[in-house]
Amino acid sequence: MNVYDVHQRPLRDLRISVTDRCNFRCHYCMPAEIFGPDYEFLKKNMLLSFEEITRLARLFRQTSGIKKLRITGGEPLMRRDLPTLIQMLSTIDGIDDIAMTTNGSLLPKFAEELKEAGLNRVTISLDTLDNDRFKKINGRNVSVETVLKGVQAASDAGLSIKMNMVVQRGVNEEDIIPMAKYFREQGHILRFIEYMDVGNSNGWKMDDVFSKKEIIDHIHQVMPIEPIEPNYPGEVATRYRYIGSNEEIGIISSVTDAFCSTCNRARLSAEGKLFTCLFSAKGHDLRGPLRNDLTDKEMIEYIERIWTNRRDRYSEERTNHTKKSSKVEMSHIGG
Ligand code: SAM
Ligand code: SF4
Ligand code: SF4
Repeated sequence: MNVYDVHQRPLRDLRISVTDRCNFRCHYCMPAEIFGPDYEFLKKNMLLSFEEITRLARLFRQTSGIKKLRITGGEPLMRRDLPTLIQMLSTIDGIDDIAMTTNGSLLPKFAEELKEAGLNRVTISLDTLDNDRFKKINGRNVSVETVLKGVQAASDAGLSIKMNMVVQRGVNEEDIIPMAKYFREQGHILRFIEYMDVGNSNGWKMDDVFSKKEIIDHIHQVMPIEPIEPNYPGEVATRYRYIGSNEEIGIISSVTDAFCSTCNRARLSAEGKLFTCLFSAKGHDLRGPLRNDLTDKEMIEYIERIWTNRRDRYSEERTNHTKKSSKVEMSHIGG
């Protein structure tokens, strides 16, 4: 049971965005000037219901044998009753791993309930340990302490934890070493993410990208590291280990070292559009067919058709994209 796209890439990973709203305004994702008080977020009836999300996840499982789901957003914990959705997803036959990407701020309230509902792992985003810088980055005056309390709550609840740090030149490259040291001591894997040209609103420039090579050199000078094998084919983070230890970090280099050739991810937006690439201009509507009572068999055929026609290789072709085209916002499909 598998389905392959035009470049022979299987469909293995489904990321489900449950809301386009967020309580942060990170300038690289939802800059406050654009996502201001007048910005029109999706209305409730436009969002997929929990029943619709669960049905789609089951259909994806049947189409391609995916075993892992990742819940994201916007900020997924802004969606009311999220633990109920996790519980519903955890009952799908064959889904054995449910993860969530979050800014961590609401974890003190929800971590335990999420774990009980069946969530296995969280990835928590944090770009610096410097309070002033963090407040500027998140655009909502949220302190580092708030996120660290979220990390602690996730750990207390028994969730497995990874950290994500987006590195931007001139913004937070000096935080690479303090973050690496801190999370090494805490025993959580930290993944450095190259700043990407997602969406249309963050004013991305190639010069702002602090590259994978620069990140590695930076860390290696202070704490020597060596590359290690991926955990599985298609893993997006390249893994490194601090020499002489079992502690590791990851680097997600979608700009300077693209990994489209093994990209096996599908992304479902909160309003039920299926995106076959993070940089797609358009998604394929699944909500319409769902609400028009297509049978499971018809839905599976539709999803298969979308995947088998997939040709996306945006990051590998980035330098050829001279024309500015409209892309989906990161807060719609969750990274
Ligand atoms: N709100 C949650 C969070 O921040 O973790 C989940 C959604 S967020 C869009 C998912 C991930 O995308 C976060 O780790 C965030 O840092 C990352 N991200 C957002 N915009 C980015 C960009 N322009 N380049 C690289 N990573 C980005
Ligand atoms: Fe919100 Fe996450 Fe985007 Fe920051 S990166 S604005 S926390 S969705
Ligand atoms: Fe996958 Fe698109 Fe990213 Fe390439 S650019 S790795 S196809 S999401």
